[in-house]
Amino acid sequence: MTEQIVQKVKDAGVVGAGGAGFPTHVKIAAQVDTVIANGAECDPLLRSDQQLMANRAAEIVEGVRLVMQASGADRGIIALKREYTSAVAALQSNLQPPTSNLQSENISLHLMESHYPAGDEFVLVYEVTGRLVPETGLPLHVGCIVQNVGTLFNIARAQKGIPVTHRLLTVTGAVNEPKTLNLPIGTPIGEAVAWAGGIKLPRWTARTEEDYAVVVGGPMMGWLAQSLSEPITKTTTGLIVLPKNNAVVRYLGRPLGSWVKRGRSTCDQCRDCTDLCPRYLLGHDLEPHKVMRSINYGLTEPTAIVTAAVLCCECRLCEAYACPLELSPMAYYKEIKHQLAAQGWENVIHKRSALTPHPMREYRRVPMERLVARLGLSEYQECACPLDEREYQPQRVTIPLKQHIGEPSQLVVKIGDRVQRGDLIAQIPEGKLGANVHASISGRVEAVTGEHIVIVA
Ligand code: SF4
Ligand code: SF4
Repeated sequence: MTEQIVQKVKDAGVVGAGGAGFPTHVKIAAQVDTVIANGAECDPLLRSDQQLMANRAAEIVEGVRLVMQASGADRGIIALKREYTSAVAALQSNLQPPTSNLQSENISLHLMESHYPAGDEFVLVYEVTGRLVPETGLPLHVGCIVQNVGTLFNIARAQKGIPVTHRLLTVTGAVNEPKTLNLPIGTPIGEAVAWAGGIKLPRWTARTEEDYAVVVGGPMMGWLAQSLSEPITKTTTGLIVLPKNNAVVRYLGRPLGSWVKRGRSTCDQCRDCTDLCPRYLLGHDLEPHKVMRSINYGLTEPTAIVTAAVLCCECRLCEAYACPLELSPMAYYKEIKHQLAAQGWENVIHKRSALTPHPMREYRRVPMERLVARLGLSEYQECACPLDEREYQPQRVTIPLKQHIGEPSQLVVKIGDRVQRGDLIAQIPEGKLGANVHASISGRVEAVTGEHIVIVA
């Protein structure tokens, strides 16, 4: 039974839908005692997980049950924010009545307050189970599998032989009809923005569409789109349209070198970045104010302070919220990680498992509302971004061969082939980590490159 579940997930091309894109068939093959469904929706303004839980609760509960079967877990916990009232009600009604099979399989809800980064796996595992994932470890090391609710939905569909062809994503910010859309993978982001009513230009200003940027993903963990023709992928959680003078666009658009230059000249060692760092608060040996000091004094040898970069989860809290001087320890850490990887540096020191959370942790968690205000996003926060159930039919999709962690998928089609929606078009290379890729629309293969497949309807 376990092998059957894992094989169907593999065939369907399911990957982590929360953003990382780790191939799910590998993750669920591990043996654990607890499965945690991550419905915390970490980043501000994103609503797709919330909408999915409210509208597709049965499939999510089924996904939890399947991962419990595959991994041998004896309990499943669906973690979501208390304020997601419709989602809570929908999930609860799928866990009832108490005498049903589901209840006997021990699946329950865990309601959380709205803090950032509530959806970070290390934070989530601690909040839900009280277990501390070791430094640079995995939830697996403390007996847990964490799966995003979107992934669980796809797992449930995979058991019926339905491959991943579409992506539920929030399109919000300065658009006329902020909403959650279910779009074929490969749809250009410009068409997604248009399907949400297009960019909303304020009255009485001379602003044009040129004065707006699109953030792919959330405002904390996302990045700026370089072009409106970039495709939606299996891991696109949302698109946020913002004026170019918004703080988020400013942060995301600043080059690494510029962050480093600013840090050298102005860091006053106040240590706010450390005091609010979620990994430091869990007891990890990560103190971002020290890396600022270390680099600014021109140290070149990798010391434990510098190599602690591998402990940073790149949540951007230090950069976008904690630092009063708009500096970015995270940018330093990113650059250091890059250099350590290029040097083939092996981590043997940042692996502590005897961790003690900071005694003030509970009081230093950052409320979402304050983060949203700090990012200049309050005017967009109230929108629920309801699910639009209409089918969007793009004329052309550009489907990347690598939407996941691992090797790019290998083509199984050629130019001129006719494909139906759901057909396999690229597969996992033999013996490698990867994910299958399927046609998201029916049509003709117009182009193939080493990076993507273009299908026209
Ligand atoms: S990005 Fe900053 S706040 Fe987040 S884990 Fe890294 S150092 Fe800590
Ligand atoms: S919060 Fe900013 S100024 Fe304070 S120590 Fe960190 S980087 Fe330096």
